[in-house]
Amino acid sequence: MRGAVIHSPGDVRFENLDDPKVIEPTDAVIRTVATCVCGSDLWPYRGLEPVGDPHPMGHEYVGIVEEVGSEVTGVRPGQFVVGSFATSDNTCANCLNGWQSSCLNREFMSTCQADYVRIPNAHGTLVATDEHPDAEMVPSLLAVSDVMGTGWYAALAAEVKPGSTAVVVGDGAVGLCGVIAAKELGAERIIAMSRHASRQQLALEFGATDIVAERGEEGVARVKDLTGGIGADSVLECVGTAGSMRQALHSTRPGGNVGFVGVPHEVAIDGQELFFSHVGLRGGPAPVRRFLPYLIDRVLTGRINPGKVFDLSLPLDQVAEGYKAMDERRAVKALLKP
Ligand SMILES: [Zn+2]
Repeated sequence: MRGAVIHSPGDVRFENLDDPKVIEPTDAVIRTVATCVCGSDLWPYRGLEPVGDPHPMGHEYVGIVEEVGSEVTGVRPGQFVVGSFATSDNTCANCLNGWQSSCLNREFMSTCQADYVRIPNAHGTLVATDEHPDAEMVPSLLAVSDVMGTGWYAALAAEVKPGSTAVVVGDGAVGLCGVIAAKELGAERIIAMSRHASRQQLALEFGATDIVAERGEEGVARVKDLTGGIGADSVLECVGTAGSMRQALHSTRPGGNVGFVGVPHEVAIDGQELFFSHVGLRGGPAPVRRFLPYLIDRVLTGRINPGKVFDLSLPLDQVAEGYKAMDERRAVKALLKP
C-alpha cells in the first residue's frame, strides 16, 4: 500500500509501505475511505517539534473494515466505521468513566494518511454506521473522528450551558467545530476570535453571533466590552500557544471555565494568577470515543455539518500538497481520499 511519511520539516512523501496486518487479536485493519491533515501535523512539519527518524503520519480516519482479529466482536468486515486518534478498549476504569483518551490500553494513531490502517483496540475504538453513508456525509463523519470530537470536548470542558456566553479562541478546524459545539450545547452568545474573512464567514454559518478580530489584550478588551465588562462564562482554547492560552484565561469571567484542547507548546500558567482569577481549567486530548455515537447521529440526521471545515480535497497521493497548503494558510483543512 501507499502512505505519507515525514522525513524532515517540510518534507512529506507519499511512499510504498508494508500492508498493515492484524497483529493483536484485538486489532482490525480498515481500508481508508477518507483521511486528512491535522493542525497538529503541522508542528513537526514546521520544525516546531522534532521529526526524528522518517515515520508515517496521520490520525484521522473513516474506512471500511477489511479484517478483524479473533477477539473483535463489535465490528465486522464490510462495515463503515468511524474511530478516533486515541484507541481505547472501552472497558477499563478510565473508559468506563468516559475518559477513553486516557484508556489504560491507549495507543495513539499515527499511520492514517495511508490506503490501509491497523486499528488497535478495534472493538472499543470503532463505531460502525448502520449503512454505508452517502458520499456527501463522509467529510463530516471524518471531522467527527477528531476535530468535531475535540471541539465538542472543548465546549464541555468549558462547561457551555444553555443561555451562556462562549468565546472560541482559534479559527482553525477545531475552533470552528467548537462554535458548532457551543451552539449545540445552547450557548446564546458565541464570540469567535478570527481575523480571516473566510473563517469568520464559516464561524457565523456555524452559529457564532459575534466576531472579534483583535488579538492579545486588545482581543480580551473587546470580549469584555461584549460581556458586561467581566468576561465570558466559557472559553474554548483551540490553539495551544502561550498567547492563545493567556487570551483564553483573561477572557473568562470569575467563576467561568476554560476548556483547552490546543496541544500546549510552551504554555506556562502562573499559579497565583490562576488562583486569584477564579477561572476553572480543564483540557487534554478529547475522549472522542465518548461522543462518537451522538455526533455520528447528529451528522447523519443533518443537524450538524462539520465537514465544511474541509476547504481542500485532494487525492491521497497529493498529501504533500495538503501539508503545504495548510502550512501556507491557503487551506483550513485538507481532506485526502485514496
Ligand atoms: Zn480503556
